[in-house]
Amino acid sequence: MTVNATTNEHVDLLIIGAGPAGMAAALAAAPRGLSIALLDDNPLPGGQIWRDGPNAQVPKQAQDMRGRLQGFSNIRLHSGCKVVALAGAKRLLLEDAERGWVLSYDSLILCTGARERLLPFPGWTLPGVTGAGGLQALIKGGLQVKDERIVIAGTGPLLLASSATAQKHGAEVVRVAEQASLSAVAGFAAGLWRWPNKAIQAITLASAAYRTSAHVLTALGTDRLEGVRIQVGDKIEELACERLACGFSLVPNVEIAQALGCTVRDQAVVVDEWQATRLPDHFAAGECTGFGGSELALVEGRIAGLVAVGERETARGLWAERLRWQGFADRLNTAFSLNPALKTLAAPETLVCRCEDVRYADLAGHGSWTGAKLATRCGMGACQGRICGTAAQTLFGWEPPLLRPPFSPARISTLACLDEGESV
Ligand SMILES: Cc1cc2nc3c(=O)[nH]c(=O)nc-3n(C[C@H](O)[C@H](O)[C@H](O)COP(=O)(O)OP(=O)(O)OC[C@H]3O[C@@H](n4cnc5c(N)ncnc54)[C@H](O)[C@@H]3O)c2cc1C
Repeated sequence: MTVNATTNEHVDLLIIGAGPAGMAAALAAAPRGLSIALLDDNPLPGGQIWRDGPNAQVPKQAQDMRGRLQGFSNIRLHSGCKVVALAGAKRLLLEDAERGWVLSYDSLILCTGARERLLPFPGWTLPGVTGAGGLQALIKGGLQVKDERIVIAGTGPLLLASSATAQKHGAEVVRVAEQASLSAVAGFAAGLWRWPNKAIQAITLASAAYRTSAHVLTALGTDRLEGVRIQVGDKIEELACERLACGFSLVPNVEIAQALGCTVRDQAVVVDEWQATRLPDHFAAGECTGFGGSELALVEGRIAGLVAVGERETARGLWAERLRWQGFADRLNTAFSLNPALKTLAAPETLVCRCEDVRYADLAGHGSWTGAKLATRCGMGACQGRICGTAAQTLFGWEPPLLRPPFSPARISTLACLDEGESV
């Protein structure tokens, strides 16, 4: 298998994803002097948590890390860059705004993070309805929400982070509906003394609009969102609002890991204590290995970066810190585990695959994702099953689809970088 020489690049270490985990991995590995490529589809490093925009200022920790990345001449940053396909052993086809090319590597660290889990309910496709993290990203990107009434629903600490961002930009957050029970949330909060910065964060984010055992039932409106019907304990309340931001925790981005042949279990890339996957020279760190917050992502990234350049003993020194933050992640995942009632929100007419207009009723009779896909067009649209495949897994227990190349829409000129014998 040969690659067009004019479009080839080789690095010792490739890191996919420049969120906290990927940045930490690059900074830990860089002092050894090996050539490193750090690529991310966003315009700047920072990942989901440290996102730039007209309404956002990234914290000092992120600014410092960006500055340190720039200080290493052996780190090449490929921003606005996506992985299009595998191009043979230890080779990937990449594309950015300017060009497509094949990059080969000796070692790889996957730091692809996580995305929001969106679950279908009546009205969830109305304009004005977004994910909870999605709303936050839109506001940071410049969306004006001043004087708008907003309902935030779903589960996990991201709801409060999103609420704080919306309020800071002038919105009135009329309800934060957390599906977990009061005892689960109180138990989680009571244990936060072990992670003092998280306890302080929880206090600063607290909202009077917060209700537990509360979940969205229906988004109301005809052409756009006008209100939300919510179950709060035994009661049903209807709230008028201009926006609903609804996210049911996060799901790891494992598609590239799966395509490479890494083991994925419980929707997360499986790694050992060195952050190594089952493939030699292939590591994974951060939320693609399970949802756990930025602190866990940072320490996992550092371990992976060190191990990838042979600094195992230094990496071992970080195990205790990882264990501490893994403890936080475990509590988080237990406290905010999904109530099975959320599987019954969709009505027969509710779209599950919104790219291809496939209704819940069209899917419900099938036994697997593949069966459903053969009979409907679910998962064949722009998101390639990233949203509906994840939803179907929660609703029906179906294994989500394996991503097929090209992993995202790509230019013909990019595909032409692959020589004869290579195909996507
Ligand atoms: C929408 C959203 C908003 C969030 N907001 C907050 C918040 O306000 N506060 C908070 O504490 N936590 C927040 N989180 C949780 C946060 O993601 C993590 O705690 C932390 O950022 C995880 O770091 P990470 O490096 O593992 O992954 P991420 O930060 O998710 O970084 C992964 C990066 O990899 C990139 N990437 C993934 N796949 C590819 C690919 N194929 N090609 C190129 N690039 C790729 C992504 O674009 C992303 O930049 C949010 C999560 C989401 C999904």
